[in-house]
Amino acid sequence: SDWLCDQMRLVDHDSLAPYRTRILLAMGAVTIALLVPFAINHLVQERWIVACALFLIIVLTYVNVRAVARRRSPPIPAAWLLLPFVAGITAAVMTQGVPGVLWSYPVVVYAYFVLTRRVALLSSIAILGYVSALAAALIEIPLALRLFATLLLTIIMINIVLNVIADLHRKLENQALTDPLTGAYNRRFMEKVLEALVARAERHPLVASVLMIDIDHFKRVNDRFGHDHGDLVLKRVVDVVASRMRRSDRLFRWGGEEFLVLLEGADLDGASLVAEEIRRSVEAADILPEQPVTVSIGVGQYRAGQDVDGWTRTADVALYEAKAGGRNRVVQATLRKAEPSVCQ
Ligand code: GH3
Ligand code: MG
Ligand code: MG
Repeated sequence: SDWLCDQMRLVDHDSLAPYRTRILLAMGAVTIALLVPFAINHLVQERWIVACALFLIIVLTYVNVRAVARRRSPPIPAAWLLLPFVAGITAAVMTQGVPGVLWSYPVVVYAYFVLTRRVALLSSIAILGYVSALAAALIEIPLALRLFATLLLTIIMINIVLNVIADLHRKLENQALTDPLTGAYNRRFMEKVLEALVARAERHPLVASVLMIDIDHFKRVNDRFGHDHGDLVLKRVVDVVASRMRRSDRLFRWGGEEFLVLLEGADLDGASLVAEEIRRSVEAADILPEQPVTVSIGVGQYRAGQDVDGWTRTADVALYEAKAGGRNRVVQATLRKAEPSVCQ
């Protein structure tokens, strides 16, 4: 079921969305260029129904392409265009038989290019069922079976390709958000998340706290064991911290050997409990054999009216107090220190 969850998650991820305009433009232009000769031929051969269906498709596509070329959104929803497409296939199968079914392949792929994944999946399966039934009724069963099998394969293959793209997309997105050494989220993402949270706090009361975590005497670790070993210690500390967090908590690398943990829904006391557990776990983890590795933590709860800087500064001040008080300890920000000074 994990695999299935993964697939559904991917199906939700619409990787082509940013390219939809480009796709519509290119496909629209090619559709028109390809269909005009066929439409004229049908007209000359006096196959009126197919000719009408094709001209309808050409006109509708042209309307959309023109709008997109002028940077407006297409007036005819892409999903609706599937209807004339399917009508065109129907007319072609009715009048010509086997050559008509060939058009179902590009139409199925078209669905994936212009629709969101879920809608495309549903539409393509519906088209698969419909054209197979059409071929069975109007042509012959053996052809219908082969049409069904090859169309199904086409649908599976395009889904595989789109899943791979979505997966790569996700990995890239993740890379842009995380710090390569520790795997914690990076500072840039932290700023985005905190800004968004504080902006939302203007409308809804926000209960959230941050932990400012700094490794004690980290310079000594580097001096004694070397920078590379120091890097390993950083990773181990991050692993220990991460193991003490809930799913909704987020860990960011503030810089160097300092980290910020965002605890949504936690007030000062709740966050302090988490901080104390993190502190104790790091101490107990025996990260280096001959030297204790500990952290000091400042805890700051968000107070109405604060901006991101004001909020994190309260935790930073508390962290400083923890250092001054002897390190390897947790200190809560006090409300008094949370107020910005009058000079600011
Ligand atoms: P304190 O208890 O006061 O925090 O002492 P400290 O030695 O940890 O002091 P400080 O925060 O000033 O020093 C942090 C050191 O962490 C300095 C820097 O060389 C080291 N450091 C910062 N980033 C990295 C890193 O990515 N890898 C390694 N190995 N060391 C780093
Ligand atoms: Mg330090
Ligand atoms: Mg530091």
